[in-house]
Amino acid sequence: MQVLSVASEIYPLVKTGGLADVVGALPLALDRHGIRTKTLVPGYPAIMRGVENAVPRLTFADLMGHAATVLEVEYKGLALLILDCPALFDRPGGPYGDATGKDHIDNWRRFAALSRAGAEIALGRMEGWRPDIVHVHDWQTGLLPAYLRYSAEPVVPTLMTIHNIAFQGQFGADIFPELGLPPRAFAIDGVEYYGGVGYLKAGLQSATAVSTVSPTYADEILTPEFGMGLEGVLAARAADLHGIVNGIDADVWDPDSDPLIKTNYSAGNLKGRQTNKRAVAKRFGLSDDDGPLLCVVSRLTWQKGMDLLVDVTDDIVAQGGRLAVLGSGDAALEAAFHAAAVRHPGRVSIITGYDEPLSHLMQAGADAIVIPSRFEPCGLTQLYGLRYGCVPVVARTGGLNDTVIDASPAALAAKAATGICFSPTTADGLRRALRRTFRLFADTKAWMNMQKQGMKSDVSWEKSAGLYAQLYSSLEMKGR
Ligand code: ADP
Repeated sequence: MQVLSVASEIYPLVKTGGLADVVGALPLALDRHGIRTKTLVPGYPAIMRGVENAVPRLTFADLMGHAATVLEVEYKGLALLILDCPALFDRPGGPYGDATGKDHIDNWRRFAALSRAGAEIALGRMEGWRPDIVHVHDWQTGLLPAYLRYSAEPVVPTLMTIHNIAFQGQFGADIFPELGLPPRAFAIDGVEYYGGVGYLKAGLQSATAVSTVSPTYADEILTPEFGMGLEGVLAARAADLHGIVNGIDADVWDPDSDPLIKTNYSAGNLKGRQTNKRAVAKRFGLSDDDGPLLCVVSRLTWQKGMDLLVDVTDDIVAQGGRLAVLGSGDAALEAAFHAAAVRHPGRVSIITGYDEPLSHLMQAGADAIVIPSRFEPCGLTQLYGLRYGCVPVVARTGGLNDTVIDASPAALAAKAATGICFSPTTADGLRRALRRTFRLFADTKAWMNMQKQGMKSDVSWEKSAGLYAQLYSSLEMKGR
C-alpha cells in the first residue's frame, strides 16, 4: 500500500510539538506492515538546508500565485516530498510565524498551497507514483480532502488526523475566491465555518475518515467543553471517528543506549538514574539531595495547566521536593516560574527555551514528570517518562488517561500502577496528587515497582501502527 502523508512539520527537521514526532515516526513503523509512505512537507529553510541532492518531481507554474516545485529525497529512512516554494516558505522564523512568534499573515495561502500540491499528487500528477491513501494532519492540511472532494476526478480515500483541535485555521470569507474551490464548497457542509473559511472544519467534513490521537480525546471532542466549536461537525462524523494513541521512537528514546544522558541504565538496574539526577540538579542549579525531584518539559501554556503548577510550587518546596522546569511559552507563566525560582533558590528552577538533549537528561534523572494539562490529545512526555522510569503525574484527560495507570491501592497491590492520575484539573487537585506522589516516593519499594512497571509498558509504535494499517485498509476497501 502506498500512502501520501501531508504535514506542516516533521521530526527531526522541523518540530514545534508532538505532531512532528508522529509524522516522522509513523512511516517507519508502518514500513514493517508493508505500507510505504511518502511525506509532503513545506520547503522551510530548515528542511532545504537539512537535505541533499533532492530531485525535482513535479513543477507548478502557478500554485496559489507562485511558482513551485515538488522535490523528492530520502532522509533518514523517510521518503520526503518537499514543496519548494521560496515565496511562501523561504523566510526566517518558525514554521508558522516570524522570529517574534507572530503568525505569518499569509498562512492561509501557504497552507492552501501545501494542500493543493498534495491534492495534485494524490490525483496522480507526479509521474510514476500514485498513493492508495492520503493521510493529512491538522488544520494546515485540512483543505486537501476538500480539494479532492470537489475535484471532478475519481478520488483517493483520505484520513484526517486531529493532533490538537484548539488550532483550527480559521480565516475570513474574503480568501475563499482565491482557494480555487467551486462556489458550492462555500457551504455549511463544506469549508464555510462561522461565516469564514475553516481549514480544519473543511478537512473534517471532506475526509473519508477522521482520527485523533487517543480514544479518550476522540470521546472528549464530541463534547462542547473539548470540541471547541467543532463538536457538532464531529458528532455528524462520529461513525467515522477513530482514536489511536501515539507511540514514541523507542530507538531514539532508550535509556539503555541514549547518548544524550549521563549514565545509561535499564529497568533491571536503575542505579544509573542517580548520576543523571545529580546532573539534572546541577544543570538547573538545584541543591543536591535525595528528596524527590520533579520536572516539566513543556510548552508553558494554559492548555498544559502550567498556571496550576505555579500555584503549587510553594507546597512542593514545603514537602521537601524540588522542581526543574524546561519550557517556553506565555511570558506571564515564564515570569511566574522565574519568581518562584527567586523565592526558592536551590529548590525551584526554570530554563527557558527548547533543548532536546536536556529533555532526555531530565527524563533520565528526575523522579517524576508533572503534566497537569487541561486537555491533552495524546501527550508524548508521559510516554518518555514511562520509558525512562520518570513517573508521570498526570491530569486524567485525553491520552494521559489512556496511557498512565493510576497508583490506586488496587493497582499498587497488583503491581500494575505506572503513575499518578488526578482530577479535577485544579490547583487543589494537583496539590493532592503531588502529596500522594511524595508519600509514594517515600515508599522506596512501591516507587521502584511503579518505575519498573512503567518501563515495561509498550509505548512503541508497534501496536498503534497496526491500528493505522487496519484503518488504512478499511478506507481502501471503502474507496473501491
Ligand atoms: P504538544 O505537542 O502539545 O506540545 P506533546 O507532549 O504531544 O505536546 O509533545 C511535546 C514534544 O515537544 C515532546 O517531544 C517534548 O519532549 C517536546 N518539548 C516540549 N517542550 C520542550 C522543550 N522546552 N525542550 C525540549 N523538548 C520539548
